[in-house]
Formats: sequence, C-alpha cells, structure tokens
Amino acid sequence: MVVTPVEIQRKLERILPTVRKPARYVGGELNQVVKSWESVETRVALLFPEIYDIGMSNLGLAILYELVNQREDALAERVYNPWIDMERAMREAGIPLYSLESKQPLCNFDILGVTLPYETLYTNLLNALDLAGIPLFSQDRSVNDPLVIAGGHSTYNPEPMHLFLDAFVIGEGEQVIHEIIDTFQVWKRSSASRQELLVNLSSLNGVYVPSLYQPVYKADWTIEQVVKLEDQANFPILKRIVAKLPPPPTHFIVPNLETVHNRVALEIMRGCTRGCRFCHAGMVSRPVRERSVDQIVQAIEDAHRNTGFEEIGLLSLSSSDYTHISELIHTITGKFTGRHLGISLPSLRIESFSVDLMNQLKDSRHGGFTLAPEAATEHMRNIINKPVSTEQLLNTSHQIYSRGWTTIKLYFMIGHPAETIADVKAIAELCKAVLAEGHKTIGRRAKLNAGVATFIPKPHTPFQWVPCDSFDQIQVKQDLLRQELRHHDIKLSWTDAKVTMLESWLSRGDRRMAQVIHSAWRNGARFDAWQEHFNYEAWIKAFKDSQLDPAFYTHRERSLDEVFPWDHIHTGVRKSFLKRDYLQSQKSETQPDCRQNCYACGILPVFADLRRENPGEAWMCPEVKTPSRHKNAATAQP
Ligand code: SF4
Repeated sequence: MVVTPVEIQRKLERILPTVRKPARYVGGELNQVVKSWESVETRVALLFPEIYDIGMSNLGLAILYELVNQREDALAERVYNPWIDMERAMREAGIPLYSLESKQPLCNFDILGVTLPYETLYTNLLNALDLAGIPLFSQDRSVNDPLVIAGGHSTYNPEPMHLFLDAFVIGEGEQVIHEIIDTFQVWKRSSASRQELLVNLSSLNGVYVPSLYQPVYKADWTIEQVVKLEDQANFPILKRIVAKLPPPPTHFIVPNLETVHNRVALEIMRGCTRGCRFCHAGMVSRPVRERSVDQIVQAIEDAHRNTGFEEIGLLSLSSSDYTHISELIHTITGKFTGRHLGISLPSLRIESFSVDLMNQLKDSRHGGFTLAPEAATEHMRNIINKPVSTEQLLNTSHQIYSRGWTTIKLYFMIGHPAETIADVKAIAELCKAVLAEGHKTIGRRAKLNAGVATFIPKPHTPFQWVPCDSFDQIQVKQDLLRQELRHHDIKLSWTDAKVTMLESWLSRGDRRMAQVIHSAWRNGARFDAWQEHFNYEAWIKAFKDSQLDPAFYTHRERSLDEVFPWDHIHTGVRKSFLKRDYLQSQKSETQPDCRQNCYACGILPVFADLRRENPGEAWMCPEVKTPSRHKNAATAQP
C-alpha cells in the first residue's frame, strides 16, 4: 500500500495527541532544509535508529545532512525511530516510517543512509526497515527499493549486519558520500540491474558490499579465509579518511524539545595518539588531524549566530592534546565573554594543565569535573596503556576541589582478564582517597561520582584476542564495588552485565550473528540500549534458535594466528602492530604518546600520499619526505 505525504500528515494529526512528546515526530525546526522533491535527482534519507531525543545530537548525521543538502541535485531528510507508543499508533493507523521534513515514506527515497555508531542499535534498524515496509534482507530488495547503506564506528566489523545492508562505508563519509550519490545517479539513468549498482559501489575506496565476499569457515567455525566473489570489489577494504578536516557544520537543526545534548558539537580534532589498548575509537580513527584555531573560532561564531544555542561542545578523543588548546581557550574566552555562551571541553587528561584550562571557561563548574583514570593500580594501567600515577590523580583532584568544583566524576573500567580482585578493590580505595582529598580541601561539600564500565574487547584493537569476563565474574566485581563504595558522598553507577554480554557478542561477531540478530528482533528485542526495554531473554532464545553458543564470541581466547571475521576490513593500522602491542601488554610494557615517538602502526605507509600532499602540523604523524611510489593504498595489506 502506497501512502502519500498528505495522507501521512492527515493521519498524524489524529494520532499525535495520543502519544508522548509529539514534537519528536513533526519536524519543522529552525534550520531544517526542505527542498522540492521534484527539483532534485537523488533523495537521501538519513536514519539514526534511535529516538529523536538521542539521534538529534549525532554529529555524523549532521555532517552528512549539510553536505548532501549543499548539492543542487540531491536532498537529505532525517528519520528517527519512533518510541514504543508512537510505533504502536503508527502500525495501527497504517503509517509507514517517514522523514521529518517532507513526511515522505522511507520507501520512496533513493538512498537510505544509516548511522550505526554502536551495536545496540542493530535491532532498532531492523525495526525501522520493517516499519518502513522495506525488505529486511538485502537479497530481497528490488530496483524500486532504496539502496540501504550504513556507516559509523560499529561498522568496522560489518559482518553481523551483512544480511541487512546493501553496502557499508568504512571510515569517514565526507567525500565518499558524494561518490556514492554520483555512482547511484549514473546507475539510475541506465537501466542496469541492482546487482550492477552494488558491483559499481564496491570499487569505490572505503565501500564494502558484503554480498560480494564469502567467508570460508574451518571445522571449529573460526575463519579459514574470506574470498571476494567479484573482480571489481576492493580487497582488503581500506577505510576512507579525509586528508584535511573540512569546515565543520554550522547550521545545526535546533530541536523542538530537550535532547541529550542541546548544543553545537564542534570537532576540534579527529583521532588520538595516546594508544589506550581498549579504545576502539582511538585505534580506528588514526591519524590525528587538527583543525586550525581560526577555523574553530569562526565556526563557533557562525554556529552561535545560526542556531542561538547557548552551549558549544569542543569534541575530540583527548581535548588537552589539541596542539593549540591554550591559544584556543584564550581566544574563545576573549571573544565570547558576555555573550551567554558556555563552552564544554570533554576528555581532558589527568594533570593540572586541564584544571587551568577548565578554570578559564565560564560556568564550567556546573556538571562537575570529569576524569577517566580507567584503572587504579599500576599493574592494570600498564596493561591498558594508560599510565597515570595515583599521586598525579590526587594532586589534580586537590586542584579541582580547591578551584571551586564540588563534584569530581571518575570513570573506571573493570573486566579485563588480567584484572585481580585486588585491582578492583583498589578502584574503591582510590575513590575514597580522592573524596578524602576533597573533604580536606572544601569540607563536606565535596562529592564524588564513580562510573564503572565493563571492558568489551573490540575488533581492530590490541585486545581483539582477549576473552572478556563472564557474567558471574562481572557480578562479583560489581558487588564488591557496591559494598566498598557505600558512602553518602559517593554516587556509584555501573553497566548492566547483561548489556555488556550483548555488546561483546555483537562487537566481535561473525556472519552467523546476523541470524541471531534477526531472531532476537523477532523475539521482541529493540531499544537494547534502554535498560527498561532490554530483553536479555530474547537474545538467549535467539542464540538457541540459531544453535550458536554465545561463549564462542565472548569467553574464548583467540590464538595469535586466528583470522578474524573483520580482517578484510583495513583501518590502516597493521594487524602485526596490534599483535605486538597485545604481547607488550602481557609484559606490562607501555607505549606512550606516539606524537613523541612514532611506533610505525602502519597508518603512515598506507596514507603516505595523503600525508605528502598535506605537509605541516595539521597531521600528528611525521612528515613523509620520500617521493610518491604511486602505490595504490587500497591494495595495502593489513
Ligand atoms: S603512524 Fe606513527 S605517529 Fe602516526 S598514528 Fe601510527 S604510530 Fe602514531
């Protein structure tokens, strides 16, 4: 049944008064772009498979929205998943999933671009496709269905979702989005088959079309090898990067209701040189590229004028590592004082310099001061490659409390297999020591929030070989922390062990996991990131239905020569480098900041031409002096 935008609008008027927060579903916000549907050749729907309140804060989608809408021949519109009540009302009223700008049903778009930054969105994507009336499985889609393509950090291991996506973008989307649209337009003007479109896309650098590859399994279900089925397809699939960060988006859409981050998100740099071994983002987003102070300040000026937002978040994986951070903060405070603009600076290193920086930012004391020591003993800090001494943490804490903050938030991680109970107990002791420092400095006003996440071994990191803790082991460690940190000035939060299990299954899953995801969705799983909706039993049943053992994905220690399901996806960092780093972790050896000393992770040879064409300080990797050998980076071996 084809439903028109006018019919959708009419039905919406009837059901919106019956659901919570109807503003989520109407669009019409400041800065939304509405183009005439007939005036463009290609229509792209950008889906973030979560509710509006969360999806609206996603920077990746905002970047693509501006880029596509800058083209005269294309338009981009937004789509988010409806909340449970709205989904029910839509199904009852026969309203398919639609875009906020024009109320067009999703199935009318040419391309559906999905943002998948984390794995707990997978069942939401299936639900969105189902609600849109788009066939769930790529193989069932015809030339009349949209091309369904996904990008985002979780797609560095695309295999668990291979059945549902026609293609994946591996890496950064700013350039490849245009190549995808161009390729699509050429195909659309021809009368070629959908298969031909997929083959054409598969030769674009950074695009992975899973149906053109086939894994060969060993008897124990580990991978023998992955073979490509089509000559034209890339192998391995090297991630896409932009050599120079383009101007950031400044026309952010201003939401009609309170969202998780009601602010302008401005990325000051991409990548990280610290090399924390558990950090997926730090490994896959190399090399570090910085924006200039002038570009950032101009973007703040423009975004503030265009949106009226009163907060700007300066985003990066490690803000105090931005080369010109002092100059940037000095310029911002000079230029924007008195203009009701708060600046937030997340991800600061544990040192007095960070306190100096935050001290310059007006109103920065609101939400407490956040630090992430991750571990509390030298043993664990060396293993994870985050060597920060207890003395340094206590000194920094003293300065934070003495400069007017009353709450310090500390983030820790439990669950690495080398972790002992003594290491966990040390987390509690360290929290108490930091609070004691606060009490000594500002008396009873001092508070401490401790957030304890659980380690999940991620693909493409030095810990991709490591088993993760079992459900029971996690429970024992969390019980210990709950017992030890019973204090009226300490607030403890932790991750549900069941959610950790789910993320562990999915993040290192192979193609067989697709059946589990489908089955879990059919068993009722959706909104897996929401504690009140997470349906663990649906997942356990899905494993049973698929005759798979969840422990295969979580508690199994991988041999050093195992071929991983994601090995044909190449982040630029060599597997041999990750292996060496993993072995060093077993000897408690650290690899400090690669800004001081390049450890030859592989990024530089793979992207040598890009570096050569962009000399100077914007990249943190050493400059390349040798002449180009015109090696095709896409054929480089991981
Ligand atoms: S090539 Fe060297 S400097 Fe660049 S990210 Fe890798 S280790 Fe760091």
